[in-house]
Amino acid sequence: MGRRRVTVVALITLLAAALPLPATAAPAPLEPAVVQAMLIERTATAAGLTAQGRAAEVDVRRRDVTGDWVFGSAVLTAPAVEGAAPDAWLFLARRSGRGWLVALDTDRGFAGLAADSPESVLSAGEKATFAANARNAAAPTGLALPYPAGVAWTMIGGPHGWSGQPRPWSSVDLNGGDRRVLAGQSGRAYWMCRNGGHIRIIHDNGWTTEYYHLLNEIKPDGAPIKLGDYLGLTSTRIPCGGSAGSNHVHYAVKKGTAWTALNGLTIGGWNFREGTRAYSGYATHQSVRRNVGQTLTNHGPDDPG
Ligand SMILES: [Zn+2]
Repeated sequence: MGRRRVTVVALITLLAAALPLPATAAPAPLEPAVVQAMLIERTATAAGLTAQGRAAEVDVRRRDVTGDWVFGSAVLTAPAVEGAAPDAWLFLARRSGRGWLVALDTDRGFAGLAADSPESVLSAGEKATFAANARNAAAPTGLALPYPAGVAWTMIGGPHGWSGQPRPWSSVDLNGGDRRVLAGQSGRAYWMCRNGGHIRIIHDNGWTTEYYHLLNEIKPDGAPIKLGDYLGLTSTRIPCGGSAGSNHVHYAVKKGTAWTALNGLTIGGWNFREGTRAYSGYATHQSVRRNVGQTLTNHGPDDPG
């Protein structure tokens, strides 16, 4: 008798799972839908991430009055491995009778969903920046190094991946001066990790810059930012996982929303060249060559090198 009742209950549960949600059903939870989108994007499994000591963070920043539109940041924290850094996205989500439709900023559908979203969730200025960023990626980068023009910091790590070894080698490690990290170009800035330390700036010229290990950082939520604005201090903080052996900013570039190699790009007047190993390589400015461990004077965003 007991066994039969369990079977019937299980059958009803299966039937319920197979049916579309009626309008009166409890609201579908957002967080699992966003986590699922991140796992698909990284072709990862929840069990695999847990085994690596990684966690998923979903941070809702804005919700419209109906509750059917949500904007926020979503992160898979980095494993405690040298050079590792978090996978971070901005996301938009729209609820319908069938549940949540989630678009990460790397998804093809993000721009369309952004265009449809209400102003209370994404401002006209943000929509314009996202559209311009998707359209305009081209060389030269128009980016400066993330410290004052005319000032020299040390390149403590040459071109390497956002998460260390894996290509493309989009990132350099920089430290020096008064440790104040500044915006590499104007754009719109977002803080990416729930505990801070990671800022993304989306530039109208098609490039995106990322800054990690920041201390005493600002917490911008899509605010316009100007070239040279203060972002935070270099440090060894790992608020979203990873590792950092000494104070620095992990400075990285994307073409639109895609990581891109620094090799051959000019930033702050320096033409970066990757080496045979991650973290090696060098940079040139006119006839000057600087290796890892040497200083790079920031020549600003427009110096062709
Ligand atoms: Zn780095």
